[in-house]
Amino acid sequence: MDKILSSSSQERKPIRCKAAICRKAGEALVIEEIHVYPPQAYEVRIKIICTTLCHTDLAFSKYDSGPLARFPRILGHEAVGVVESTGEHVDTFKQGDVVLPVFHPHCEECRDCKSSKGNWCSRFAEDLTSNTRRYGMASRFKDTMGEDIHHFFFVSSFTEYTVVDIAHLVKISPEIPVDRAVLLSCGVSTGIGAAWKTADIEEGSTVAVFGLGAVGLAVGEGARLRRAAQIIGIDINPDKFALGKKFGFTDFVNPTLCGDKKISEVIKEIARGGVDYSFECVGIASVLSEAFISTRTGTGKTVALGINPAAPAELDSFGLFRGKHVCGSLFGGLKPKLDIPILVDRYLKKELNLDSFITHELQFEDINKAFDLLEKGKSLRCILWMDKK
Ligand code: NAD
Ligand code: ZN
Repeated sequence: MDKILSSSSQERKPIRCKAAICRKAGEALVIEEIHVYPPQAYEVRIKIICTTLCHTDLAFSKYDSGPLARFPRILGHEAVGVVESTGEHVDTFKQGDVVLPVFHPHCEECRDCKSSKGNWCSRFAEDLTSNTRRYGMASRFKDTMGEDIHHFFFVSSFTEYTVVDIAHLVKISPEIPVDRAVLLSCGVSTGIGAAWKTADIEEGSTVAVFGLGAVGLAVGEGARLRRAAQIIGIDINPDKFALGKKFGFTDFVNPTLCGDKKISEVIKEIARGGVDYSFECVGIASVLSEAFISTRTGTGKTVALGINPAAPAELDSFGLFRGKHVCGSLFGGLKPKLDIPILVDRYLKKELNLDSFITHELQFEDINKAFDLLEKGKSLRCILWMDKK
């Protein structure tokens, strides 16, 4: 950190540093030297301290066609960094601040940001395809041949330095260890937020969570904090069940061992008629249909968290007529600048279990090993350290 504070001479110049670049769909990332250009108005250049990967990075590293497939690209959207320099009109961040970038914007000024009903930002959230928030396809990254490299979800954390718009940046207390704070940058906040904000689970409720990756386990943690009576975890990988116990799950179902029964039938038996809340945290349309059927007629609510832009989901229309609800949730319904500091505070008060999400730690250079671990279902979150430990 001292190194950054003393390096003001480099503030307005490009910084040469290392990045892991996704050059082609499905191929291993390549560590290359890149140039990171100075932040423009409303932007901040940050030095990444550590980053982790979420299933969304894995999915986007494989899309080979359509508007979401873009190469070369710097993936990564869960990170903690420290502000190296700021562009014009940035008065809420200064050099040396510890910050959390977040893929979901929060401008704090639009009608939706001012409403307490959700976390949509109508000024910015509609645009998922630009490189930089206020500058369209302009990129702050170039490779050594002078070619632009695409950004990813307005964060791009698989690099030693990145440039992020202030609408995507949250200042956090330096008291929280960075390897715990990084978890709050996407997946874990999404799961906890979905239980807390999107579903607003009441004490004594019954809950089913489909998919026990970091997102699903975090839904369990959120349900535990809301004092749910029964939290059922469903996963095809039984190794996830021991982890689930650490986050308050009470029952587990392995779909591959249900024989002729549908998962929804098994859940209805366990929860005596259906759960009050179900959460899809895999990204498979048929799993969302089962999650919906598993909820209680009249009042059940299903929250879709898994992302699969390609497949439309089928929902039981009689269930809808009979009062069941379904909704999707980006970033767990959290307003980043308001709600992340609350989660940090709850961690510092020892109420929130973040520690159990960290299953592996590696140096940034070994990022492809982290992809492999996530793909094989062996890791929840692997902390990637930028500087040698
Ligand atoms: P992960 O890969 O760590 O976890 C997915 C889990 O689902 C694994 O444990 C896997 O074994 C399990 N699974 C696979 N097929 C299954 C099936 N048929 N039935 C039950 N379980 C099954 O992924 P993650 O990082 O926890 O992310 C989960 C999903 O959430 C991804 O689709 C990701 O893109 C999405 N996501 C959404 C948001 C959002 O804002 N909505 C934010 C972050 C991640
Ligand atoms: Zn807004």
